[in-house]
Amino acid sequence: MLIVADGGEGAGKTTAMNALEAALRAEGHTVVRTREPGGTALAEEIRGLALSIRDEVLDPQAELLLMFASRAQHVANVIRPALARGAVVLCDRFTSSTFAYQGAGRGLSRERIALLAEHFQGGVTPALTVVFDIDPAIGMARARGRGALDRLESERMDFFERVRADYLRQASEDPARHLVVDASRSPERVAAAVIEPVLERCAP
Ligand code: C5P
Ligand code: MG
Repeated sequence: MLIVADGGEGAGKTTAMNALEAALRAEGHTVVRTREPGGTALAEEIRGLALSIRDEVLDPQAELLLMFASRAQHVANVIRPALARGAVVLCDRFTSSTFAYQGAGRGLSRERIALLAEHFQGGVTPALTVVFDIDPAIGMARARGRGALDRLESERMDFFERVRADYLRQASEDPARHLVVDASRSPERVAAAVIEPVLERCAP
């Protein structure tokens, strides 16, 4: 079963997924923890290309294709084999990020992203996407606390507002496969909101 954690910057995805991973293992599940962009050595190099700051601005279409290049590699070499072994795959970001950032954020066509997903994901789709919802101003303040935000500071706030709105759109269009969590709360409460519903889904 593929479970995706997604949402804006500083939403606390990683922290909550740590707690979720421990809870799943305690129930006896085999868990594979991974992330996008990245998740294999080569896909992590593609992540580096997509997220590095350089003099030449990355064209949005090139950015889109790098996200799918990373995803194709990751699905083929990590996610699909893990699902075939019966593992629970916990993935930090997935195609939902592409719709939010490259689609709503950069203004690329949602239909085109859906087409790429259909062609290059080999039928692998999340059983559940947990959306960590947070006001971008709060999320950015948290992320700033961690440093390394230069790349994000160049974006205007309305970019992150569009990203947030798109996650909520995705969730409202397919509520059965999404769980929206209010990520402005304490790490403990956020983790608690995620763990129960996910354990329920993964129960044999
Ligand atoms: O916090 P995390 O490791 O998920 O951050 C990855 C970064 O990649 C985020 O800052 C996000 O803005 C960016 N990203 C993106 N487009 C995607 C996925 C991630 O711009 N499709
Ligand atoms: Mg994180």
